[in-house]
Amino acid sequence: MWDCGSHGPGSNPGGGIFGEEMNGKNSLPSYIKKRVRSVLYKLKKERMPDYITIAMSGGKDSLAAAYFLKDFEGVFGYTLEAFFIDLGIEGFSSESKEVVKEATEKLGIKLHIIKPEKSLPQIIEENWEKIKMGQIKICATCGLIKRYIMNKFCWENYGEKGVIATGHNLDDELAFMVSNIYGQNVGYGFKGSVALGNSKEKLCSKIKPLAKVREAKLEAFKDVLLKKGFRTTTKECLLKDGNTQTKHKAFIHAIEEISKKFKTNNFATATLHYIEKAHKNKEKDVSWRKTCKICHYPTSSKDGICSYCKLMRR
Ligand SMILES: [Zn+2]
Repeated sequence: MWDCGSHGPGSNPGGGIFGEEMNGKNSLPSYIKKRVRSVLYKLKKERMPDYITIAMSGGKDSLAAAYFLKDFEGVFGYTLEAFFIDLGIEGFSSESKEVVKEATEKLGIKLHIIKPEKSLPQIIEENWEKIKMGQIKICATCGLIKRYIMNKFCWENYGEKGVIATGHNLDDELAFMVSNIYGQNVGYGFKGSVALGNSKEKLCSKIKPLAKVREAKLEAFKDVLLKKGFRTTTKECLLKDGNTQTKHKAFIHAIEEISKKFKTNNFATATLHYIEKAHKNKEKDVSWRKTCKICHYPTSSKDGICSYCKLMRR
């Protein structure tokens, strides 16, 4: 079950992070570790994979996820590997790649660097008219490319023996839900912390080890990682203009402030329970999923050609 507490901005998420509790049972690392462990147990109930491959971006969340997954490698008996998707964004991708290289070396994780057949700037150039008209959104396109490559990489390298891990945190999940609510897609795309794949469809399972951890806690944990000598990307993506996730997160924090006044200081947990229930039956129905005529990976596209193949003009 979800147990996420509620911490808006201004709360003290780290608790004893700078004090003597740092290494104690109630420390911030222990808090996060406990939640990562619960996701791994949930995965183990289904089937523990031989490989977990973490998608690293250079940011604090995927670094924290890699850090804790490495810690549990021996306990759960999987091999942890990492991959970085180089989208060729000038002044951003190369720095992020270096940060990820350093982190994986320090953690002793094998790193795979993947380049899509076209860089994101090239795709933007080719689709500039549609972007101007608002028919294609850059951040959504970037997300689509990453999701496609993640699954393809995992499937081709590990097959049924592999699981993809991402650094999504609880605030990411909540922001995603907000956008689904007004898009009238309640439950759609929301898989919780463990989403099972399907080998017949070349679909790898996915886990979000940090899906029960608030962003504020991870922001505080970043300081712990920096003290240990890790780095995170300092630059922001130059193409992120128009990304609505930040606005959704601000909206969630505002709602949390209001709900505190009504002594229902549990907005995040309550929302997740609600959506999980709403999603339960939808998850079983995958009749909408087809196989792409070109690449043979799953697609929801009615014409049977996946969005990735269309973007790449295959
Ligand atoms: Zn395709």
